[in-house]
Amino acid sequence: MQHFPIFLDVANKAIVLSGGGEAALAKLRLLLKTEARLHVFAADPAPEIENWNTDGHLALTRRPLAADDLVGATLAYAANEDTAEDARVADMARGAGVLVNVVDNLDASAFITPAIVDRDPVTVAIGTEGAAPVLARAIKRDLEERLPQNLGLLARIGKAFRARADALPMGRIRRDFWSAFYFTSGPRAAVSGHAAIEAALEAELQAHLGKSAQPGHIAFVGAGPGDPELLTLKARRALDEADIVIHDRLVPVEILELARREALILSVGKEGFGPSTPQDRINELLIEHAGTGAQIVRLKSGDAAVFGRLEEELDAVEAAGVSYSVIPGITAASAASAQIGRSLTARGRNSELRLLTGHDMDGLAEQDWQALARPGTVAAIYMGKRAARFVQGRLLMHGASADTPVSIVENASRPQSRSLPSRLCTLAEDVARADLSGPAVMFLGLSPRDAANAAAQIDIAAKEHA
Ligand code: SAH
Repeated sequence: MQHFPIFLDVANKAIVLSGGGEAALAKLRLLLKTEARLHVFAADPAPEIENWNTDGHLALTRRPLAADDLVGATLAYAANEDTAEDARVADMARGAGVLVNVVDNLDASAFITPAIVDRDPVTVAIGTEGAAPVLARAIKRDLEERLPQNLGLLARIGKAFRARADALPMGRIRRDFWSAFYFTSGPRAAVSGHAAIEAALEAELQAHLGKSAQPGHIAFVGAGPGDPELLTLKARRALDEADIVIHDRLVPVEILELARREALILSVGKEGFGPSTPQDRINELLIEHAGTGAQIVRLKSGDAAVFGRLEEELDAVEAAGVSYSVIPGITAASAASAQIGRSLTARGRNSELRLLTGHDMDGLAEQDWQALARPGTVAAIYMGKRAARFVQGRLLMHGASADTPVSIVENASRPQSRSLPSRLCTLAEDVARADLSGPAVMFLGLSPRDAANAAAQIDIAAKEHA
């Protein structure tokens, strides 16, 4: 993001505009919506500007802008439709330390004026950093249709009512009150005007004053392998309703952004071998927050019940008498098998699937190697990147064929995903060569359906790394 969107308080601040033609008019129509003091400098202004001048909406000076005119200005616009004059104005503005926008010249501008959907005080600003004005216009059109014209009126009346709404306990009840107003009773009352909207607010307030606060609740939610579209509808709803989201490191920001804006987002990232929040502290956090009546989402990557220490947390919250629910998610092995075009089980190939971890609390994890070494075994190895050489050695020692196929799937379901074909005999080297930086699952006993394509990927990865 090269341009950071903000809303600037321009009430009673000076905004200076140089120019008097079409470009100036276009900007002034927007600027006239604000409470800023507008000062236009133009030797030959369009008649509309003359009229706005006599209305008292802006001050017009009939000469080119001079450096002194910029003193104390908050923003400046160069809208002369004349490259040399715009450059002169931009230079003066920069010299005076005033942020300047040069119309149709992104590189010379310190800020962009976005496309605006105006339901004052609700304002939507749309920007594409100059990349796609067509897109900005399409989004604006879409929002203009979607947002009711009286939204601004509802918001203004709602804003004046905020102090009264403080009578409601903070949190869920207050939130429910506002959403009932903005999405149900408010729009219904708006057709009958101002007084009806106020009456609707009052009625909503009375209805919600009678409600008692909910007890705290923890939803243990599987966030899936990373692609936000692989969240379940239940997970999505839980995120919508959560006051607090406590998440692991592998949950991507795109999913966290689906939580309510006011929700408190806490990371308790556990990195394979890196720093982490101790499990006891996580348990304490859950219980503490639930005690305040918060609706908590404990968000874990994949399925919460697969290598997620779920039962340790369930034991703790159950012992503390906190209510909870578990919402399953799509585990990494499911996303990874989809990526390589393989089924996790297949008639005549494997009627059993094992889920293994490469390392456990004591370090590299021991397994039933004898069983795993048998031909036809399929196992999904989680957290196995650093265990590749160990797994390879143990399996070969127990008689597994050196030719056993292994597929490595990194970042399954995410944009940077890769699938790499390997064999048991070269597994450790292939994993090292692939230089995996994201989470990866290794499938023992499965080759990618499209092995040629996957092999090309590993070559590209190796070259990029070289
Ligand atoms: N509960 C999670 C697993 C947590 S353990 C689940 O059900 O998926 C963390 C391990 O999961 C990682 O080391 C990696 O082996 C695997 N993993 C998680 N997300 C992954 C992804 N998008 N692609 C590949 N492997 C992933």
